[in-house]
Amino acid sequence: MDQYRVKPGSRVDLSQWDPDDTNGFDGAKKDSDKHLAMLSIKLEALQELLYAERKHKILLVLQAMDTGGKDGTIRHVFQMVDPLGVRVASFKVPTAEELDHDFLWRVHRQTPARGEIVIFNRSHYEDVLIVRVHDLVPTEVWQRRFEQINAFERLLADEGTTILKFYLHINKDEQKKRLQQRLDDPQKRWKFNPEDLKERTRWSEYMQAYEDALSKTSTAWAPWYIVPANKKWYRNIVVATTIIKTLEELNMQWPETKDFSKIAVR
Ligand code: AMP
Ligand code: MG
Repeated sequence: MDQYRVKPGSRVDLSQWDPDDTNGFDGAKKDSDKHLAMLSIKLEALQELLYAERKHKILLVLQAMDTGGKDGTIRHVFQMVDPLGVRVASFKVPTAEELDHDFLWRVHRQTPARGEIVIFNRSHYEDVLIVRVHDLVPTEVWQRRFEQINAFERLLADEGTTILKFYLHINKDEQKKRLQQRLDDPQKRWKFNPEDLKERTRWSEYMQAYEDALSKTSTAWAPWYIVPANKKWYRNIVVATTIIKTLEELNMQWPETKDFSKIAVR
């Protein structure tokens, strides 16, 4: 999965990243479903250990264009995971109270505690994406945020947080298809937001904002992964595999217990 990690200090050109990439696999439905189910069971076991050890904190950041698949990724990758050990924090248009604070105020309070996995469905990166594209703050304000974000994530990492950031990469054609599906399918229609069509006209501005964010904030302590996401099954497998590999590298241990050898349950 290293091939999808943005090397710190490198310059991202998204036109060079293929959203259709499946690493040569064909994704036969039966096989990919089985593979993902297996990964999800593995993730479930690791999550239990994480919870029991109560040492590490895991922060997963999901960013994507509209219809990019943030919700679907969460649903599929965590299908087997105990809901008690995982929390999703979704970041919407800031409230008046949130806007009266610095941009990280609402974010910091949602970060994971020991033993917890928190998934950010959108994140502080909106503050250098939509905020930039729509000129919601002066240029010099969003420009200094890259450095502020790196420092903030460094603080979290220093205090025991493992951070993984995923950009789910789809192209404009795929978004068209998915928006049309939302319109056509009565069960998906509730997700259709006419605003998304307006955002779509700014596609290239968003790509530029994403390229900047991915280039400037992929660090050793909080790397970005650019996930090929036109094919949902492959997107899920890449995200699940990356999380599993990272959790395995933490070398977690079951907590030491007292000597219970003389205890009998009657
Ligand atoms: P959704 O995720 O589809 O429910 O939409 C949430 C909306 O909130 C998206 O259009 C985001 O771009 C927007 N949003 C999230 N964070 C911010 C932010 N910090 N400033 C402005 N808009 C935001
Ligand atoms: Mg939306």
